[in-house]
Formats: sequence, structure tokens, C-alpha cells
Amino acid sequence: MRVFNFAAGPATLPLEVLEQARDELLDWQGCGMSVMEVSHRSKAFVALAERAVSDLRELLAVPANYRILFLQGGATGQFAGIPLNLAPAEAVADYINTGQWSKKAIAEARRYCKVNVAADAGGKYCTVPPQSALSLTPGAAYLHYTPNETIGGVEFSYVPQSGEVPLVADFSSTILSRPLDVARFGLIYAGAQKNIGPSGLVLVIVREDLVGRARPGTPAIFDYKAMADDQSMLNTPPTFGWYVAGLVFQWLKRQGGLAAMGERNRAKAAKLYECIDGSSFYANPVEPVSRSWMNVPFTMARPELEKEFLAGAAKAGLVNLEGHRSVGGMRASIYNAMPMAGVEALVAFMREFERTRG
Ligand SMILES: *Cc1c(COP(=O)(O)O)cnc(C)c1O
Repeated sequence: MRVFNFAAGPATLPLEVLEQARDELLDWQGCGMSVMEVSHRSKAFVALAERAVSDLRELLAVPANYRILFLQGGATGQFAGIPLNLAPAEAVADYINTGQWSKKAIAEARRYCKVNVAADAGGKYCTVPPQSALSLTPGAAYLHYTPNETIGGVEFSYVPQSGEVPLVADFSSTILSRPLDVARFGLIYAGAQKNIGPSGLVLVIVREDLVGRARPGTPAIFDYKAMADDQSMLNTPPTFGWYVAGLVFQWLKRQGGLAAMGERNRAKAAKLYECIDGSSFYANPVEPVSRSWMNVPFTMARPELEKEFLAGAAKAGLVNLEGHRSVGGMRASIYNAMPMAGVEALVAFMREFERTRG
């Protein structure tokens, strides 16, 4: 039986996509073998790869002067890849710190360049600093931020303005959740395992003028130009992940694209926050305007009941609701592939738990 999987990542995938992958697993496109066993240089695979890139370009309306790269090493690899490609060793890069993923990006960047923390949300990281609080470095190599903090459940309600300085964003847990104006960014990156497909793949969408600036010593597989010149196939790409990501992009198009997904995601998040806010038993600590549509952490008035809550939820087919190991409590990740029915089932369970145990 399929459960509703609220994991933060690797995360739930659309059932239709899994069914298609299952149906063609042993014999992909009449090749007599699975897509995992096909050469990445074969005509059939190259066609699949190109279609995935063009579908993504269409979904996100990526302008022609941006390159789309399918890389490895996860978003964490890009924590290093970004300064290696965009910041000369003496340069300053600005970073906004809104929580745990920002902190990891900052720590890694510090190994390669000077980092100015342009703003630090501070406290328990339940807010997003306003534009007016950003202390930006004139001539910085770039400004980096994390539009959605997956662990804290904190999401920017605005796109920071960085003037001439390229804006770089870790969209790992919110890419494709709604339309996005790519032209405002110098570089967007996202690990696949939250809202795209299986782990092992990281997308980089980078403006052309930022390609070809890697510092000497940058490994070729992290060099945007080397990868762009070879259509992300300088070496063997994660072929299965690329294939599933392509199926997800086609699924998103069938759903009506990102405007339709945005409406659904807004409704799903609203339903869950309404349940939390309408009760004195559950609570979410994030300032309302900065609440994530994708990752919803919550606590209970009686924390000693958490184990019982999680066990009861799992029995009801609602799994992976425990909060991140560093913060505790609960967290429901409700990415694109989580249907409204899953959120409704969770809300019904929460209400019943409060009624009987609260
Ligand atoms: C999950 C996540 C990462 C780390 O991704 P990996 O692919 O494991 O390296 C980085 N940033 C954000 C915002 C994330 O949600």
C-alpha cells in the first residue's frame, strides 16, 4: 500500500511517474533494456536528455541567455561550485543567513573566498530579513540566499534586489512550486530529491555571462563552462535521475504548469496552517509572511505526546512527519507531488488527535 510520505528529501514522487517508470523499466522505448542500461551517448538517451532540458526551460520560462546544467554532487557540491566559478579568491561574496542551509553554504564558501554576511535573521531563524536590512558589498562577486529553508520552514516572500551584483539562490526545496522570474537571477540551483526527482542530480540554471569564469584549479566537473560545452555530459551523468526528472517535468506540464501548481501549493499550505493556527494545541513558530509552502514544521502543546502522534500517524498511512533531528517536533513536507488528499488526511488526523489526546 502507498502511504502519504511527508519526508523532506528524498521525497514523494508523483504516482503516475512511478507507474510509468515501472511499466517501462525492463524494456525502455523498445530497446530491450532499461533506461539505466543505455549509453548516455546513445541517440535515444540524448533525445530524452534534451527533452528534459527543454521541458524545464518551458516550465520555468528560462530566457535564452541562460544555460541549464544537470550536474552531480548535490546542492552541497554547489556550495563549493558557486564560489569556484563566480568568485576570484580575493573577492567578497555576500550571503543572507536565514537558517541551517544558509549556514552550510556560508561555511563552504568561506573555504574559497571572503564572505560578508549581509544579514542574519538570528534568534531561532523564524523570520526573513527585509531588503532594507541587507548590508551589501559594492562590487561583490554575488549575493547568495536560500529562498526556502527546508529545515526551518522559512521562505522569502520577496526576491532580494542586488543591483548589478548577480543574485544566486539555492532553490532546492521550492523550485517548480510556482512560477519564477528567472531573469532576476544570475544563478539558480536545486538538488533534485525535494521537488524534481531522485537524488543524485542537481540543476544549475546560470546566466551565460557567468559561465567561463571558473578560477584555475576548479575540477572540470564543477566548471560550468566545461559542463555547458558538453551538454552536462563531460562524464557519465546520473542517467536514471535525469530520466525520472524528465518524467516529472512532463507530469508538471500535464498538471497545467507552474501557475496551476502554485495555486494547488498555496491551497495545500493554507489548509495545513489553518489547522495549526486554529488550534491551541499545535503551533508553528515562523512569522506568517515568511511561512514556507513546502515545509511546515509544527510543535504540540504537550511534547511528551510526540511519539504517540508519530506512531498513530504512521498507522494511518501518514509517514515521515518527524522534525529534523536538529530541531525536533514535527515537519510536514508538502512538495508538488503531495496531493491535497494527503494534506486533508493529515489535517483530519491532527484534529482527531487533538480531540482525543489534547
Ligand atoms: C536538501 C538541501 C540541500 C542539500 O542538498 P544535497 O543534495 O543533499 O547536497 C541544500 N540546500 C537546501 C535548501 C536543501 O533543502
